[in-house]
Amino acid sequence: MQLSEKVIEILAARNEKSRRIGELKQKMGLPLVDVNAERELRERVREVAERYGLDREFVQRLLTFVLAESVKQQYSDTKAATPKITHMDVFRKAKQLERSGRKIIHLEVGEPDFGAPAPVHEALSRAAISGYARYGEAKGLQELRTRIAEFLRERFGVDRHPEEVLVVPGGRFGVFVCAAALLSPGEEVVVIDPSWPLYKQVAHQLHSRPMIVRTKMEDGWIPRVEDVEGCISSVTRLLVLNYPNNPTGAVIDGKRLEEIVEVCRRRSIYVLSDEVYMDYCFGEFNSILELGYENALMLMSFSKSWGMTGYRIGFLVGSREVIERASSIQAMLMTCVPEFVQMAALKALDDLETPKRYGQIMRERVEEVCRMLDSMPVRYVKPKGGMYVFPKIEGLSIDSAELALRLLESKGVAIAPGSAFGDYVDYVRISTGTSIDEIREGLRRLKELLDQIR
Ligand code: PLP
Repeated sequence: MQLSEKVIEILAARNEKSRRIGELKQKMGLPLVDVNAERELRERVREVAERYGLDREFVQRLLTFVLAESVKQQYSDTKAATPKITHMDVFRKAKQLERSGRKIIHLEVGEPDFGAPAPVHEALSRAAISGYARYGEAKGLQELRTRIAEFLRERFGVDRHPEEVLVVPGGRFGVFVCAAALLSPGEEVVVIDPSWPLYKQVAHQLHSRPMIVRTKMEDGWIPRVEDVEGCISSVTRLLVLNYPNNPTGAVIDGKRLEEIVEVCRRRSIYVLSDEVYMDYCFGEFNSILELGYENALMLMSFSKSWGMTGYRIGFLVGSREVIERASSIQAMLMTCVPEFVQMAALKALDDLETPKRYGQIMRERVEEVCRMLDSMPVRYVKPKGGMYVFPKIEGLSIDSAELALRLLESKGVAIAPGSAFGDYVDYVRISTGTSIDEIREGLRRLKELLDQIR
């Protein structure tokens, strides 16, 4: 038998063993991923690699694939792999009902209903007509990047060069190009759960492995430093942070942020701080840029602060080297963000009142959601920012995906089940992207359903 075939044979035997271990873990109620066991294994494998004179980096990445495959094997046997209803069923059903003419109250989407200010609309069409409609520089218009650098100076007192700014077509795209610029297959990305689903999807897409730090409501949804540190291995490349947080509304304080960044600094790990909800912060907001960590990247979008969701524009700030790499990936995919959209963003940056106003409206809506939840059988942490509340529904005999589906079918209200954001089947995410009257009516119907099924 050829040696390569032998490798496959050994992998098959390993998979079989993993599956059996998975069954045992499930019986004993143990988690599928044990970071301490993985760390010991990595250490032993490193020694073996050295003994055989193999490249350490290569072997460690190979081990990531093997470990990820084990988790997949074990996962396929657990209940979590076969939930009766998923969050995607809820979203699909909402669309289907709407197509059939039913009016749905949308408390599931993360899109604010505000829209862009009128001068931004006008700047967009003026720019398109006056010639900002040709191929442009991949990083973005020089004047916009210069203005963004000024904005960062005014807002956070940091001195960043326009060459450290990449204009991206929205935060979502920004996460992808940033991750694509940093990650190689077999590397790990630390994600704090509950989390916006995109981070894990992007890691998988790039053949990297998301490693989860699970936060709890009891800790205010803020990660403990030791949990972040415990999740880091020799192949960890990136940590993703997101405050104000989607879906919990948690905001990390400056001290904890600094402690976590310090862990990353010691291990030379990149940090991507997704700060797209910075203007929906109800108290003090700390940007990662203020810490001056050279491997930190900050992501911002015009979608939430100026209601420009359909414009598709945001920016990424980081070291010149990473921005250069992200920019060349972006150029491959889309040449540049349309320049008339960039001109609209330039106009938006003249208006710092709108983000404050939108932030204030979100705060009032979030407070109203909390007030209404207080008369329901739920527990939650009052958000310090963002546009969501993430309550735990108490004493339910069904999981939250099933609850969401029932709420949609029987009451015409869409909410996002907690399973969309990690292993949080008893939770739901309520978005405040719609008017206060709709929010009140949606929650009144949620209460009605909870009273009926309990
Ligand atoms: N980051 C987070 C945490 C989000 O929730 C969203 C959108 O919902 C985004 C980034 C991206 O927004 P956009 O792609 O519209 O800039």
